[in-house]
Amino acid sequence: MDKLSNPQKTIEVIRKHGFDFQKKFGQNFLIDTHVLDKIITAAEITKDDFVVEIGPGIGTMTQALAEAAREVTAVEIDRKLIPILQETLSGYDNVTILNQDVLKTDIAAIAREKNGGQPIKVVANLPYYITTPIIMGLFESRVPVDSITVMVQKEVAQRMQAEPGTKDYGALSLAVQYYAQPYLAANVPPNCFIPRPNVGSAVIRLTRYPQPPVQVKDERLMFALIRASFNQRRKTLLNGLKNSSELQFSREEILEALGEAGLPENVRGETLTLAQFAALSDVLEKQKNEKGGRLI
Ligand code: SAM
Repeated sequence: MDKLSNPQKTIEVIRKHGFDFQKKFGQNFLIDTHVLDKIITAAEITKDDFVVEIGPGIGTMTQALAEAAREVTAVEIDRKLIPILQETLSGYDNVTILNQDVLKTDIAAIAREKNGGQPIKVVANLPYYITTPIIMGLFESRVPVDSITVMVQKEVAQRMQAEPGTKDYGALSLAVQYYAQPYLAANVPPNCFIPRPNVGSAVIRLTRYPQPPVQVKDERLMFALIRASFNQRRKTLLNGLKNSSELQFSREEILEALGEAGLPENVRGETLTLAQFAALSDVLEKQKNEKGGRLI
């Protein structure tokens, strides 16, 4: 089978199979060899690696992954793509195709079966509406992950790697950076896909930390604080926490905690580093233990 990563070949395969693009599955297929090379390079795939690809489409990236990796499992939701994948990947004996919704797939079980439970590499050109649940699901669950290299909406990539105090910094930046080191590998314009998406895209690699870069006693409380502080972006952290429906700290308790964490009363959440959120969380956690549960 010829390589797919050019517009002519992609159109030929799609026409031959009478395939109709499904908007509901976020189908924009990659047609640019340079971008494909950048993804494979960024993912640092070697012949030792077992790779899970999410959403292989017609198999463009899967072919390149199969050549670079030891073994690939590709999870595709659209059953109409399965016969196409069987054809385009027929030349590779190290690829398994699963016709499943990745959000309902037990990736940890796949990692156990195919990689002896050792950390896997995940590579995906994701439908944009499920980017965050997929990435956070992989980090928060017990799936052993070495890295996730994904094509995402450009703005989402910017938010993932944003630093405190910038306009893109938010709950997603902190959630991603708690688990992984982000590296922006490439910006990808709409003309690298068919059909063309309405937004720019970017390839970002998230390399999982063996241990989170900060230690926090209660992760759940820290992430509740983070959500509360970015829900009301223009408010001070004090007001954001006080008005949160997830938290039940009084103004006095928050003021006391801010002081103990070395933060000014009028500090805004968007200026806090992950370490500062962790420190504030630990102070509030101590209060919570002293005075009873405060997290709903
Ligand atoms: N990887 C291909 C490429 O780069 O050309 C296709 C990328 S396309 C943006 C996203 C792919 O994810 C589509 O093939 C779509 O059918 C598939 N997909 C969408 N939702 C999915 C889900 N929940 N589970 C698995 N695959 C999904």
